[in-house]
Parts: sequence; C-alpha cells; structure tokens
Amino acid sequence: MKLSPDMWIPPIERKPEGVPKIVALGGDGIGPEVVEATLRCIEALGLPLEISRPIHGTAAVNELGNPLPDETKRTIDAADAVLFGAIDTSVGNAKAALLYLRFDLEMYANLRPVTSVDCIPSIIGGDNTNLVIVRELTEGLYPGREGQLSDLTSKWPEYRDGRGKELPKDGAFSLRVMTPEAIERIVKFGIRLAKHRKDKGYSRGHISLVHKANMLRVGDGLFVDICRKHIEESGLSYDEIYVDEAARRLVAEPQNYDVIVTSNLFGDVLSDVASEAMGGMPMVPSAAIGDTGAYFESCHGSAPDIVGTGKANPAATILSGSMMLSYLGETEAAARLIDATLGTIRSGIKTGDLGGSATTDSFTDAICERLR
Ligand code: ATP
Repeated sequence: MKLSPDMWIPPIERKPEGVPKIVALGGDGIGPEVVEATLRCIEALGLPLEISRPIHGTAAVNELGNPLPDETKRTIDAADAVLFGAIDTSVGNAKAALLYLRFDLEMYANLRPVTSVDCIPSIIGGDNTNLVIVRELTEGLYPGREGQLSDLTSKWPEYRDGRGKELPKDGAFSLRVMTPEAIERIVKFGIRLAKHRKDKGYSRGHISLVHKANMLRVGDGLFVDICRKHIEESGLSYDEIYVDEAARRLVAEPQNYDVIVTSNLFGDVLSDVASEAMGGMPMVPSAAIGDTGAYFESCHGSAPDIVGTGKANPAATILSGSMMLSYLGETEAAARLIDATLGTIRSGIKTGDLGGSATTDSFTDAICERLR
C-alpha cells in the first residue's frame, strides 16, 4: 500500500502566516534523540521553517527550578506546531509540557494511524491495514481526577452505585468524566477524517465507534448517543463495537477497520495493540490537534532502557514529523519524508527493533541522503 500523509490527517483550514514556527520539545528518555533525528530529516527537505528548542523538562528543573517556564509556554503558544519526543510517565519532568499541550491548550483529537508497510511483516493479521484511531485526549480517565474514597464518601455520603450499594470505606477512586462538548468535537473530527479519506479514495469512509456502554451505561451511554446522532447525520456508514471485542478484531482482522472513534483510555490501549500491524510501537506516529494548535509525537514511550545506546528507532517520530508537515500544508514535503523513511527501511537499513543493525544516526543519515 502506498502511504500518503494525508491518509492520516484531514486538511486543516488554518494555515500559518509567514514562515511556519515549529517548537521542538525532546522531553525524557530517547525523546531528544528521536526529535533531533527528525529535525535533521526535516532540515534536509530545505523548507523555510523557524525551529526553536525552548528549555523544558529536566534541564529547566535544574536551571530554573520549573519544568515548564513561562517563557517556554509563550514560545509554545506562538508556534504553528510542536514536535514532541516522549515522556517518562514514572519520573519524567517533561510531563508538565505534555499536560500543558493536552489540557491547557486542549489539543483534543489524537490521531494514531496504523498502516501496513510492505517491507515490515505484521505479527498480527492484516497485510492491508489502513486505519486511524481517533482518540479523545482531554477527558475520560486521564486528567487524573483521583483521590481517597474516604474523602469522596465524606462529601457525598448518599451516593449509591448502580446496584444501590454504598461505596466502600477504604480505597481510592479515579473519576471518568465524559462531557457532551468533548464527545461532540471528537466525533465531528472523526467524521471529517473519514469523509476526507473516502473522498480521496483512501478508504471506504467507515466509522467504528468503540465503547463499553453495556457496563458504563451513563458515561459511554452519553458517548454513544451523541456520536450516533452526528454520524447518522453525516451519512457515513458505521458500526458500534465493545472495546474488548474491538481489541480482538484488531488482532484478528485489523484490515477491516477504517476510522475508529473512541475515548481516551480505550484509544491509548487499542493503538498499542494495533501498532503491531505496522511493525510495532517504534513505527507508529501520532498527532494531537486542537482548535488553536497541534503537537506531533511517536506513540512509543521514553524507552529508558535504551537511552544513549544508539538503538532508538526514530521512524515513528519522523513519520509524526511528516504528519506535522501535512498539517502545515506542506503535503509534498510530507510525502517525500515518508518515501525516504520507508525507502531506507526497504533498502535493508533498519534499526534493531526491525531486525537490522543501523543506529539512530546511521538510519537518519540514510534518510537524509535520500532527501538531498
Ligand atoms: P513509558 O513509561 O515512558 O511509556 P515504557 O517502557 O512503558 O515507557 P516504551 O518507552 O514505549 O514504554 O518502551 C517499551 C519497549 O519498547 C522498551 O523495551 C523500549 O526499549 C522499546 N522501544 C520503545 N520505543 C522504541 C524505539 N523508538 N526504538 C527502539 N525501541 C523502542
């Protein structure tokens, strides 16, 4: 299947004024290594771009005592797009920047495309996989609305669960919030992407709504009601799948999916599963798009076990960079970046995770060579 960057991202109406401003935030672990590799490839394309690398994360904590200084926030606010590395979810200092992008700047539509690549065998089914997971990124379980059950029960003693039972006295709670505004904007984004893919002939323009409304009757009930209404109005075909069955089908028949619209946690888990149809996490890019900006990062984490070893595969971040160029209206350059990356892998130059012996640098050199 010929990969094209606009399979993964719909056209965005808002175009940068003048030279596009890109902010690079390497983050934790291998993040800085894969971001610098990506910037080298982007620079090799020779586009007029203004790239800045504001201080953040560990360096900012060490120098200024703050992982996300105000000056860095202002640089992010003024950017047309952000290229992000990774965060170490356990100890990382880069988390502040990611939380700022997601929750303060509300980059809510997380696009996680998984497309079969001819030169990389899929260990799950589906050699013709061409799907995009559209994950709601600002609510559900992830803003971390948590606490002690004793605090909740003392403030809300009359609460009863679906079976009429009181909450237990000891333990913790994690609140999963679903609002009509967030559901509406994510399903509208999914519809826009599905229509675009259909119009361009990339896919049939079908939406799979993934949820668990049989158990989460109120929260996911709201999700399904709102999504269903908008998709029916759009005239697109759709189906509804419980998340557990959706995961099974991702392994058994990923090629049957087109656009998956789902909530935060489900999208996170499903995209890790689906990544195996594209050669694993080090290959899968992502974008998070809001009404006023967007950031682009790989789906993999900070891989603390291989930091500084030269083993990091930068492909997912490079492909995220291609999505970023597409978002900025540079579709031809975005396509060249994909072709050069896959061409390099096809030629046998690949990192260890794909069975090759290239290092982060030698793999990146080979891509840059093709771009010059
Ligand atoms: P985090 O908590 O930051 O998400 P994690 O260890 O749970 O980290 P990953 O960082 O994605 O998850 O790493 C999972 C495994 O995949 C690790 O063994 C790591 O070395 C490997 N890995 C992740 N990304 C890459 C990459 N770009 N290149 C090579 N290997 C990678």
